[in-house]
Amino acid sequence: MSYLSPLDKIKSARVRLIRRHPFYGFLAMYLKPREDKTVSMFSVNGYGELFYNPDYVKNISVEVVEIDISHEILHLALQHHYRSWNLACLGKLKTWEDLDLFFVACDLAVNSILAKEFGESRLISCNFVYDSKFEGMSAEEIYEELKKMRKQGRLKISKLPDGTTVVQYDGHTITFKGHEKFMDAGGKKDKGRIMEEMERKAREWGKRVVEAYEYAKSVGKDPLGIRKIVEAMLKPPSFNWRELLRKFIQDLIPNDYTWLRPHKKSFSTGFYLPAVRKEESIELAIVLDTSGSISDDEYRDFMSEVFHILRSFRSVKAHFIMCDAEVAKTFDCENVEDAVKMLEERAGYGGTSFIPAFNYIHRNLPQVKAVIYLTDLYTSGWPERLEKPTLFVVCKEGAREGDEYWETARSLGALVIKMK
Ligand SMILES: [Zn+2]
Repeated sequence: MSYLSPLDKIKSARVRLIRRHPFYGFLAMYLKPREDKTVSMFSVNGYGELFYNPDYVKNISVEVVEIDISHEILHLALQHHYRSWNLACLGKLKTWEDLDLFFVACDLAVNSILAKEFGESRLISCNFVYDSKFEGMSAEEIYEELKKMRKQGRLKISKLPDGTTVVQYDGHTITFKGHEKFMDAGGKKDKGRIMEEMERKAREWGKRVVEAYEYAKSVGKDPLGIRKIVEAMLKPPSFNWRELLRKFIQDLIPNDYTWLRPHKKSFSTGFYLPAVRKEESIELAIVLDTSGSISDDEYRDFMSEVFHILRSFRSVKAHFIMCDAEVAKTFDCENVEDAVKMLEERAGYGGTSFIPAFNYIHRNLPQVKAVIYLTDLYTSGWPERLEKPTLFVVCKEGAREGDEYWETARSLGALVIKMK
């Protein structure tokens, strides 16, 4: 039995992580440990303050602390704070049960990645909730599943007098407490301010995640289970998408959430959920040219831009279309992780025509506000006219300003820009 103080245990767990799990170790250096008896075990806020209950840490080994810290790091890396607030502000988490269920979903998402890094059996033996059924799913997807189970009566959620939440389903029991810390927004009360703050923090962590990933790779130990999402973050965006799209579709982007006075106390702890008048989001059609002339490297660049497009706005509903000379695959996504996962499987490699994608949008997506088409612009088929504001994003090796493809696109009224 070691006699390390709780703080010493945390410090030595960080050192172990740097050696064996460098991605996590690198990020752990940004955490600021804070002793706090109101949390049951560990908790982290968007600022990287790592709250720990000393009585809990006293009784666990450094090996378990290692996983606990990595767990909290993944909440930051996957931007769960930002995403929780985002859903709350959009009115998608209406009651404390909804919010707590989303926390559970975040934990299950995190732990299924940790199972890859640390091993399933070690995770389970250290008492982390793990359910292989949710492997590879985002928190949002898992949340939908949990809600379904609750509707069917297979999942029960309740709160104990001391504020501990208990969730039970399919033989799993999950208990937790102290998520006011998790939802800490630096004392900001106004919803617009909160989202600005959360976004700013999420971006900061995004940069650190990229650095951590590159560091881990340089020492030959890439983190397992998180590669896809991190790789999309690796390439910096070619444009300031936020500004560009704002200019491009100025009037189409809703100003902000509608923030009313909280209508009801949502938490026994005094935490308020925002009340939302209506759900607002912007709908885009994003077309990826998957014809044979687009190399896999270029396609990866497309994916990276898509990643940055989705990250630019608080609420984008994207309808994806992969198209070569015909529509090869379509799907809808509201969050980055799902989109990246779906885009991984490229369909196409044939000739090129723009007509099928625009026909598809005309028939199936009359509600979209604009079309973003990622392509080399080398096509044999142009639509007669463009019904929606259209932005062609041209890859590096694609058409050049002034050539016949570029000019044809311009003459149809499209905006054409070149990737860096
Ligand atoms: Zn957690």
